[in-house]
This record gives sequence, structure tokens and C-alpha cells, in this order.
Amino acid sequence: MPVDRLLPTQEAEDLIALTRDLADKVLDPIVDAHEKAETYPEGVFEQLGAAGLLSLPQPEEWGGGGQPYEVYLQVLEEIAARWAAVAVAVSVHSLSSHPLLAFGSDEQKQRWLPGMLSGEQIGAYSLSEPQAGSDAAALQCKATPTEGGYVINGSKSWITHGGRADFYTLFARTGEGSRGVSCFLVPGDLPGLSFGKPEQKMGLHAVPTTSAFYDNARVDVDRRIGDEGQGLQIAFSALDSGRLGIAAVATGLAQAALDEAVRYANERTTFGRKIIDHQGLGFLLADMAAAVAGARATYLDAARRRDLGRPYSAQASIAKLTATDAAMKVTTDAVQVFGGAGYTRDYRVERYMREAKIMQIFEGTNQIQRLVIARGLATS
Ligand SMILES: Cc1cc2nc3c(=O)[nH]c(=O)nc-3n(C[C@H](O)[C@H](O)[C@H](O)COP(=O)(O)OP(=O)(O)OC[C@H]3O[C@@H](n4cnc5c(N)ncnc54)[C@H](O)[C@@H]3O)c2cc1C
Repeated sequence: MPVDRLLPTQEAEDLIALTRDLADKVLDPIVDAHEKAETYPEGVFEQLGAAGLLSLPQPEEWGGGGQPYEVYLQVLEEIAARWAAVAVAVSVHSLSSHPLLAFGSDEQKQRWLPGMLSGEQIGAYSLSEPQAGSDAAALQCKATPTEGGYVINGSKSWITHGGRADFYTLFARTGEGSRGVSCFLVPGDLPGLSFGKPEQKMGLHAVPTTSAFYDNARVDVDRRIGDEGQGLQIAFSALDSGRLGIAAVATGLAQAALDEAVRYANERTTFGRKIIDHQGLGFLLADMAAAVAGARATYLDAARRRDLGRPYSAQASIAKLTATDAAMKVTTDAVQVFGGAGYTRDYRVERYMREAKIMQIFEGTNQIQRLVIARGLATS
């Protein structure tokens, strides 16, 4: 049964219908094979871009869909319910265009936004380094000023869509301390930029995650987004929006696991009745349904605050924490509902459980979300 959504406009209803159709026809037939073989789904992002699904929340004046965040996130949730790896990459694409949109000059936007928002160019976000994950201010990759630009040296890690993206929103050091980081928009084919082999991950197999190495890679000064030293402010502002994307992806994943578990529980019989009719199992499914609804309500609350121009940073952390913990629990319980069959690769629930784990880790681990939430409580 499709999720019965409360959408604000007919246009939003149409977008959800379009997404479900695309998910049925384009994603569903190929997801299992690509996740198993760990192969990249060539052409899928182009199709999502052509349908306008890669730039829904960005302003129409720059080629975006002009949709409220609450609508964009529900579309993302629908994609995630079919293919979490693709949904994560869509969310990261949005994350990577945020700095240019929010902090770029009009000239920079005119030059690069149309390509990004039309879906012709897919983006990646490059903040993490081997020694700088949760502690982003410890990053060491260096951008040294030179005649008319910067020369970049150093390595970055864990880049979703690494080696495949057309542009990289890069954070590199231009000075000392937390005010010594700047943001750059780097083309994927920049001379001096190379990528490592895809990481051997627990899940999200179809979209690569790689390191990047900068060896005297030169960018012009007009590729710096915002002021010199403003990088971490830009990075964290983008992550507030990105965390909502991850919350929506986690909710879609949890919904998919719940749907599979309910279907199975209505078919499988033990002791002469359907397993859903055993109260112990029925209550497990009820708790799963409540967790999914709670996750959705929490991210929608944060999204509506964002749409109204209200502060939403703490709510974004609450949504990321709530939805990703819910996804981990719901997907694990879905495996339980399947019994022994859940522990095999014959059903999607084992993949969902593997995919849920990363949601608690990237875009700020859930420990870091708690830090953000607690800091908000301390100053309120
Ligand atoms: C599949 C995947 C995709 C990713 N995609 C991207 C991407 O596209 N772009 C990007 O920039 N990064 C990306 N990342 C990196 C990701 O954001 C980091 O892995 C994450 O922020 C955690 O950093 P870390 O791995 O260095 O862990 P660490 O920072 O070393 O943390 C290790 C453990 O210590 C805990 N910890 C650390 N500090 C504290 C503290 N102060 N209080 C309490 N607990 C703490 C953490 O919660 C964690 O449990 C990705 C990672 C993965 C695995």
C-alpha cells in the first residue's frame, strides 16, 4: 500500500505520482542486480534529472523546481523506499549545490547553477578527511593562494559519488583554526585531482564512495564560494539541509522494510495461523509502524520550519537522529519477522538492515547530532 501522504498542493501530488511511476519502471527492475554486483547504475541519474527530480527544492529562477522542502523530502523518501543508494546520492547532490546557492555571487550562480540544477551535472560534497570526520575543523587539505587562484594539495575521504560526480564542493584550509577553511567548487576533471578505488562498503553498493587526492591542482579564484575563511560556516549550513535529506532517506528505507515485513507476516503461517495474528508478532509490526510514522512526522516538522524561514538546525538534528535510529530498529525487526529467511539474500530486508547502519553515521554521527541538540538546549 502506498503511503497516504498529506501534500500541500496538486502539483506535489503529481510529483509523488511521477516519482512512484519512475521508481516502479526505472529503479525497481534493476536495484537488486546492481546492489548485488556492486555496479553503477549508468543513466539513472540522467533520467531523474530529466524528470526534474534532482533540483526540486531549489529556486525556479535558477532552474530548480521551486518546491517546498517538505515536498522535496517526501519525493526523496519515495526514491529511498526503492533504492537507498540512489536516494543518498540525490540528497548529496542537493547538499553539494547548497553552498553555491546560499553563498555564491550572482555571477557564479549564473555560470554554474543551470548545469547543476538541470541534472546535467551531478555533484558531490567533500568535507571529510582521514583524520577529520566528526571533528571537521581538523581538516588539513590545503588551498594555497597563488596568482589569480589557489593551488590545492592533500587528500579527502569518504566522498559519495567520488570519481563519478561532475563537480565537488570542496572544503580546504586557507589559514589556521576553524576560521581558516574555505569552500571551493571543483570540476571533476581538474588536472591534479585523482580518486581512490571505491571503498568496500557494508551497503549502498551501487554508488561509489572514494577518497580524492589533490596534487598541485589549481583553481581560479572565482571558484571560491563565499569569503576566505567562511568554509566551515558554509559546510555546516549545508549539512542542516542535508541531514533532513538523510532523515527522509532513512524513513523511506524503514517504510520499505515495514511493507515487506507486513506482506510476509500476512502470508507466513505457524501454529495454524498467519504470523501477524500472533499478538507478539503483531505488536512488533505495530511498533515498527509507529516508528516509521514518528520518523516522518519529525522530519516534516523540521522541513516546515525551514520552509517558513524559521530556525531549524536543532530540529534537523532531531529528525536525523530520530529517523535513522528508527530505520536501524525497523529494518532489524523486519529481518526478525522473516525468521531464518530474513538472514538470507533471498529477501530485501537483509540489505535494508545493512543500508540503515550508515544512516546513523554519515552527515554527522548520531553522537554528533546529540551534541548539536544538547548545545541548543544549553543556550535556550
Ligand atoms: C558510506 C559513507 C559515505 C560518506 N559520504 C560522505 C560524503 O559524501 N562527504 C563527506 O564529506 N563525508 C562523507 N562520509 C564521512 C562521514 O560523514 C564520516 O564518516 C562521519 O562524519 C564520521 O566521521 P569518522 O568516520 O571520521 O568518525 P570519527 O569522527 O572518528 O568518530 C568515531 C566515533 O567516535 C564518535 N565521536 C567522535 N567525536 C565524538 C564526540 N565529541 N562525542 C561523542 N562521540 C564522538 C563518533 O560518533 C563515532 O562513533 C561518508 C562516510 C561513509 C561511511
